[in-house]
Amino acid sequence: MSVSAGPRLHLDHTFARELPGLAVPWTAAPAPGAELLVLNTDLAAELGLEPEELREPAGVALLVGTGLPDGAHPVAQAYAGHQFGMYQPRLGDGRALLVGELVDRDGRRRDLHLKGSGATPFARGGDGKAAVGPMLREYLMGEAMHALGIPTSRALAVVATGEEVVRERLLPGAVLARVAASHLRVGTFQYAAATRDVELVRALADHAIRRHHPEAAEAPEVYLEFYRRVVDAQAALVARWMLVGFVHGVMNTDNTTISGETIDYGPCAFLDAYDPATVFSSIDHGSRYAYANQPGIAQWNLARLGDTLLPLIDEDQDAAIEAATEVVASFVERYEGYYARGMAAKLGLAEPDDHLVRDLMGLLAGRRVDFTRFFRGLSAHLRGTDGPRSLFAEPTAFDAWAARWEAALPPDRAAVAEAMDRVNPVYIPRNHVVEEALAAATEGDMGPFHRLVEVVSDPYRERPGLERFAEPAPAEYRHVTYCGT
Ligand code: AMP
Ligand code: MG
Repeated sequence: MSVSAGPRLHLDHTFARELPGLAVPWTAAPAPGAELLVLNTDLAAELGLEPEELREPAGVALLVGTGLPDGAHPVAQAYAGHQFGMYQPRLGDGRALLVGELVDRDGRRRDLHLKGSGATPFARGGDGKAAVGPMLREYLMGEAMHALGIPTSRALAVVATGEEVVRERLLPGAVLARVAASHLRVGTFQYAAATRDVELVRALADHAIRRHHPEAAEAPEVYLEFYRRVVDAQAALVARWMLVGFVHGVMNTDNTTISGETIDYGPCAFLDAYDPATVFSSIDHGSRYAYANQPGIAQWNLARLGDTLLPLIDEDQDAAIEAATEVVASFVERYEGYYARGMAAKLGLAEPDDHLVRDLMGLLAGRRVDFTRFFRGLSAHLRGTDGPRSLFAEPTAFDAWAARWEAALPPDRAAVAEAMDRVNPVYIPRNHVVEEALAAATEGDMGPFHRLVEVVSDPYRERPGLERFAEPAPAEYRHVTYCGT
């Protein structure tokens, strides 16, 4: 009997080749009971992979890393990072592997990466495993973010391993195969800088420039320009999070990318009622990563990136610090610009209006109004149907704000309402619905999960029959997410 050769896959390894000091060759753990739970057929097609081939045993073996093509060179990536503000010199892929890089059908180079593929030399006593629930959660959240137009890593597949993993209780194990523009993190630069080998930091920066910010190579001050572009990409990203009510939950420097993509969906969740102090993660006791803190934390993380680049920016370290400080300070203006323009679009305004936005957010926070329903409801208000007024216990405060808002709008209300519906989603992965779908999946019923992925993958188009996906959680519902699962 002939064994299928498996999907044709052209893997490249620029990271491992150019930065051997940051890559430990390693192989995936066996997964004898591997069973494909979900495959992202759109993403597979983008990567030039045949979904039908990935569903075959040889394809599933590829997706868990046990059946890689000849010449594949999987590595665990080294990185350091500030976790909740504390510096950890050695984190790295404890339960993950960079399988290699693929060039997609649009010519973009993308990492193929596995999570839950077994303990590596970076495991620090961890089991190297992942459970089905959290890996499906990462799949779902990434697809929702992608559909919202927010830069993100995306899952290609989740495969159940057939093993049980030990958490608070025994859970079914899984491997997530994901794709990202790269897995270069602020923490990767921190690890390189901690070796005190400036040439390693330079090689890493050059690699990152080639991959993500090639225009910086043409600038007179290459590394300062690179830094500026990373700062800008993160400012744009975090503004997008804030505009949809996304709380990442674990914005450690090792989870902050150089590409400007969202990565590492652990305890993340979307706001229900608007409250800037919202924290979902059970381990974020100090509320460091609360919703409203995210821009400030991103800037702090970028300052840590700046620390590592100083030797490259200028031989004169005082001059380097001055230049880098100016760049990191520019985060505020960049972020505020992205946020203000995004809010203007959400409100249908031709120009940003800070006062109107500030007063609105105060109004929503004080009354714990559902964030997503409020913004989506505004177009209905313009159409004279049921608007967000009914979300307020005493609607007069809303009326006063709405009068000011309407006076600021362009005259063609129908066009404004249509444009607003293209930026204010109806469907986000609501926490209570996500939990329900993951609980069913853990019990072996993937139906609700597939349904939910379908709903959040088309977030702006209201469809009959999906009302419950747009409803807020029951009033007594309180969402908590657990990290490290
Ligand atoms: P995360 O919270 O997923 O961003 O992971 C933070 C660090 O802990 C990374 O270095 C991970 O590789 C590592 N890690 C998390 N869970 C495990 C695990 N079960 N086994 C080994 N390493 C882990
Ligand atoms: Mg991480």
